[in-house]
Amino acid sequence: MTGTDPHLRYRGRFAPSPTGRLHFGSLVAALGSWLLARHHDGEWLVRVEDLDPPREVPGAADAQLATLAAFGMTSDLPVVWQSRRHDRYAQALDQLLSDGLAFECRCSRTDLAAAGGIHRACIARDPARPPAFRLRVADGSRVGFADGLQGKVEQAVDRDVGDVVLRRADGFWAYQLAVVVDDAEQGITDVVRGADLLDSTPRQILLQRALGLPTPRYLHLPLIVDAEGQKLSKSMAALPIDGDAPLPALRAAWAALGQPASALADAPSVPLALAAARRHFQPGSLQKAPHATFAAAHNKPVAGAV
Ligand code: GLU
Repeated sequence: MTGTDPHLRYRGRFAPSPTGRLHFGSLVAALGSWLLARHHDGEWLVRVEDLDPPREVPGAADAQLATLAAFGMTSDLPVVWQSRRHDRYAQALDQLLSDGLAFECRCSRTDLAAAGGIHRACIARDPARPPAFRLRVADGSRVGFADGLQGKVEQAVDRDVGDVVLRRADGFWAYQLAVVVDDAEQGITDVVRGADLLDSTPRQILLQRALGLPTPRYLHLPLIVDAEGQKLSKSMAALPIDGDAPLPALRAAWAALGQPASALADAPSVPLALAAARRHFQPGSLQKAPHATFAAAHNKPVAGAV
């Protein structure tokens, strides 16, 4: 396993799941990853993570792409749809199985409840259950990495996560496998996303190592929380942002990234606002802590986020 080659051109991505319209938290993640890619003179790709039909909303992926476009952010390469890539995930699973690094597992949630939901050994009571597939996580698998914003992160993946699901018992591919396969295949050098995925990163790094894939650099942006400290996407404020009147939400997302509001205050259009944002963006001003803000969902300037 090797890290990102420092000579490779920066390539970032935004990878929404089409479970609804984009909300303010996703806009901040999209803008943050876009700004960092542009700041490094790099490319920015969009990948639709449509691997979980039970959670998806028909038409949501197209609506998300249209909203991103209204905010001036379009993929530099054709958009990748995970639902069209099942054979790639199957190949990765086959590789892990033939290397003895993955196994079939018939444990149910109820079976695992006594072990705190953490899988370390199969304790299935129903041998006829359709199997999931898991990555075998060796005892003592402690994984650390230096996050571009959050600093040093370390996790005992064996103890805190257990053997990682790669394909669910219902036959759907797990996000963890797909994201690792796709980030590598798309040549992503820099993953910039919300801090809700910080604790998924060590298991993704283990999976990269098991598959012999490079590990990109990671930077986890603070989660946008509402006035009550709730993750925005889980709160009432998770209303879709309005692509018909994007400027106020764009300004609020810029401010939520710790950037000076004055830089975009006079920009009369999205292209001019993004051009100003590129000129004024200071990665050093990105904030580590959750940034309390609210209601850009309504495309109103955000109190306290100026
Ligand atoms: N699809 C994931 C989400 O919408 C994000 C995956 C990622 O950025 O790694 O939460």
